[in-house]
Amino acid sequence: MLNTEEIKRLVENHRPELIQAADRIWEFAEERFSEFRSCSLQMDILKNHGFAVSSPCSTLPTAFMARYGSGHPVIGFLGEYDALPGLFWPADSIHPPTEASASTGAKSCGHGCGHNLLGTGALGAALAAKDYMDLKKTGGTIIYYGCPAEENAAGKAFMIEAGFFEGTDICLSWHPHFKSGLFNDALANCRVSYRFQGTSAHAAQSPHMGRSALDACELMNVGVNYLREHMIDEARVHYAYLNSGGTAPNIIPAEAEVFYAIRAPRTEQAVALKERVNNIARGAALMTDTTVEIDEKCIYESFLPNQTLDDLVLKYLDRFLPLSYTDEEMCYAARFVPFGNLPDTPDPIDTVPDFSLHRKTSISTDAGNVSQRIPSSAFMVNCYANGSPLHHWSVTAQGRSSIAHKGMLAAAGILASCACEILLYPSVAVQAKQELLRLQDKKRDEKT
Ligand SMILES: [Zn+2]
Ligand SMILES: [Zn+2]
Repeated sequence: MLNTEEIKRLVENHRPELIQAADRIWEFAEERFSEFRSCSLQMDILKNHGFAVSSPCSTLPTAFMARYGSGHPVIGFLGEYDALPGLFWPADSIHPPTEASASTGAKSCGHGCGHNLLGTGALGAALAAKDYMDLKKTGGTIIYYGCPAEENAAGKAFMIEAGFFEGTDICLSWHPHFKSGLFNDALANCRVSYRFQGTSAHAAQSPHMGRSALDACELMNVGVNYLREHMIDEARVHYAYLNSGGTAPNIIPAEAEVFYAIRAPRTEQAVALKERVNNIARGAALMTDTTVEIDEKCIYESFLPNQTLDDLVLKYLDRFLPLSYTDEEMCYAARFVPFGNLPDTPDPIDTVPDFSLHRKTSISTDAGNVSQRIPSSAFMVNCYANGSPLHHWSVTAQGRSSIAHKGMLAAAGILASCACEILLYPSVAVQAKQELLRLQDKKRDEKT
């Protein structure tokens, strides 16, 4: 066990810089694959602190690596910085944006998943771990991964394909939440876009000449809603229109597009369910005499837990948590509680970490894709009022609060402590790798 007070001090040395960076990224609020300002802000900080920064893939311009040290073990911190469309909200407010506050730049996007804290917390871990390596003259390498487009694109899946993780021994990550504990369970999630092509016509004068792509989308959605009765309880299916065919009811829409998220606990289950949804889309095209183009965008794989690493993370969660809060912070949080998942809770902030080894969630993460290939562990740290749901305006609103900053700095300390322990005792990395190989073999055996 490391001296966590020492790690806390190292993180604390970077406090002003980290808080400023997280708040700036909150303001930038850049959507998937457009995180140019957030990315360059992080790259500048890492360069200034002596990291070797590179953007190795021209097709992923907002993905980067920042490396320090040499040799094994090689430990990666996974950082994110993308915002969500439609989730802009004024900081600290329970009131919706006014025209004035929403009028500038990219203000339709907001950090409703807290990635301004996620990326900056991971960056803080990299800075503190680097300082620790210098102090203790340890060997090994740390890499901060700047990962784009976690939302709606599974950016890490493309980073894996591009070779970002080759030679990396361990990956560590975290996510802001209203509850602290491990984050080693996530639903697999297939993202598929269905583009229907029909024939346009005057909707009153010659409706018999038209073939509506919008009808096809609607029938597809009805079909999928009937499918719900016949899928496993844990599965989740949801959709959004990317193109509803235009704004004129008197023109039969020739084109329409609907974007699906199809989730299930295991990747194979999500893929099998996706095949059934694809068939419903084909059926809708047949019914409406249109055609459908099925564009399978990406798959978020389920998270493969690694108990060797989870035990290490739990040890340090216990050292850094629970956090304490002032009366003012409790009052701040209480304003957001009525809008969350636990509106009747008497505790405005959840100060009781969950130290259990397995925690079920129904969300998805592309850190799951990494966990299937590199031994990984992830955890959540409380950054918001009790019950605040991710992908919700209240998370955007609380993203620059002192509660959020406190959680982010604690996460940096936990990540840095775990990494530094592995640098000092590389046998942990070997053991974690052996565990991953065993789990991969078991999976292969189950398939055959
Ligand atoms: Zn999210
Ligand atoms: Zn997220």
